[in-house]
Amino acid sequence: MSIPKEKIEEVRERASIVQVINEYVPLTKRGHNHVGLCPFHSEKTPSFTVNEEKKIFYCFGCNATGNVITFLMKKDGLAFPEAVRALASRYGIAINESKREAPDDREQIYAALKAASAYFTGVLRASAGDPAKEYLKARGMTGELAKRFHIGYATDKWDGLFNFLKKNGIGAEAACKAGLLVKKDKGPGYYDRFRNRVIFPITDVRGRIIGFGGRALDEKSLPKYLNSPESPVFKKGETLFGLYQAKEAVSKEGYVLVVEGYFDLVALHTHGFLNSVATMGTALTTDHIRTLKGYTSSIYALFDSDEAGKKAALRGLNLFLNEDISCRAVLLNQGKDPDEFLKLAGPDALREAIVDAPTLMEFYLASLRSKLNMTAPEGKKKYFEDALSYLSKIGNLAERGHYATIVASTLGIGVESVYDAIKGVSGGGGLVVKRGGFQARNLPELTLLRVIMKHPELLSPEVEAAFEAFTDEEIKAAAKAVSSLCRDGAAISGPALLERLEGEALKGRVADLLFRDSDGFVEEPARMIEDSLNRIQSRGKVKASTQDMIKLLEQMGKSDIAVELKKRIEVGPSGKRH
Ligand SMILES: [Zn+2]
Repeated sequence: MSIPKEKIEEVRERASIVQVINEYVPLTKRGHNHVGLCPFHSEKTPSFTVNEEKKIFYCFGCNATGNVITFLMKKDGLAFPEAVRALASRYGIAINESKREAPDDREQIYAALKAASAYFTGVLRASAGDPAKEYLKARGMTGELAKRFHIGYATDKWDGLFNFLKKNGIGAEAACKAGLLVKKDKGPGYYDRFRNRVIFPITDVRGRIIGFGGRALDEKSLPKYLNSPESPVFKKGETLFGLYQAKEAVSKEGYVLVVEGYFDLVALHTHGFLNSVATMGTALTTDHIRTLKGYTSSIYALFDSDEAGKKAALRGLNLFLNEDISCRAVLLNQGKDPDEFLKLAGPDALREAIVDAPTLMEFYLASLRSKLNMTAPEGKKKYFEDALSYLSKIGNLAERGHYATIVASTLGIGVESVYDAIKGVSGGGGLVVKRGGFQARNLPELTLLRVIMKHPELLSPEVEAAFEAFTDEEIKAAAKAVSSLCRDGAAISGPALLERLEGEALKGRVADLLFRDSDGFVEEPARMIEDSLNRIQSRGKVKASTQDMIKLLEQMGKSDIAVELKKRIEVGPSGKRH
């Protein structure tokens, strides 16, 4: 069942975005905007901006953007209808959802998962759970921890959960969508997905169960670990096991420890590291990092110190650089995983490893150094090139300076030369890397878009044709969203425009434009449009005549020159790709 569209509209219109956000982030008025410290990345000076008129928020630091509804979704981990309902009840907007109708899919799935968890923990407590209790004890799990994580057990029966759910009025279809039951291949009916396994319930940040992980009791059963399949409420790449339990400790300690396995996490908790979370057997993803950024700016990932562990650590470097957050690599020199490490070396050894942990960038530079012959010019060259490709991605000046100094002293050159080289790599952009916006993109295209956003009444068929011919795919997508709004007769308002765009990055860039283009930007809109159109059209003409030339050259058998020309028009006259 869905909330009527006009009710969603009403909620967005009547809810005060400043009032709502102010409860999470203290905001102060600055000009037309309200500003505060961003709740989505860590910062010391406020770049998080909220505008009551535009009805959107935007962070100039991390580009997070959205409206009052998406703010609640991001901040409180609410689903869209939940966020709408919460705001509706707060602002006294009646949403006539008839009680007689079935609750929506997600609610049925949550109910099935909750019931299943009660079943699994009940089985563990009963005598049927004795083999699992023994297994857990052997792995060092205390009864207290088993309770804190609501650990359960599934026996080897094929219909234990099935019958329990049936008795409790949970439909098999919902349980199937929740990943608890599997439809039989032949004939009607369902069977239990989890059998003969210790069960770890996976919760979202609000503590609602969204899936399960099951560890086989004996080593012969495959797979060793079985996770719930993805469902409308469970996205593996976004979920961190134990975050709900660790939240408070993370903000108290100021950092988070990240491991990969359920038992690693439990071992950390057993030894008092309550600020720990686990990816479910996968490497960290961008979504994981974004989730963690909401709680801390200090991430420590635990890796084995063998080759595989080192490789895994290095794979993470790009992700963290792109998300503008640093991560330290805690390398464990004993045992095959953190669970074993703690058993062999103890918690003090882990504390030491945490204190000594290098940042991923430091770790990368060190491993680069050890891999190359640093006395030979070829080795130095390779070191410099590889290091530069990462250095140029670091947005923060102080942080970049730190690594530039390491690189300079390793090579015995001045740090200024490193800075000069970075400038070259980042396309002459200087030392300050502008993040997030449309800066340094195709200028005529960008200008045309900005003018039309400010003056939608000037949208003409000619401008729309130019939109179609845009070469920057993102500017084109934004331009198309603007013209579709105009065509529907709607005003260019923040939320409406963002809603028609796909992808967080693009939304951020367009929000950047909305906030940057204060009233002074467009002085002579008609002339700016004409100018931009001329530049875009003449580019088209040049391209068309060059294509004719290429054809001619090919006919003359001069294909090498033709290839060269082709390359040039693809790259554009400045020689730089956007
Ligand atoms: Zn931010």
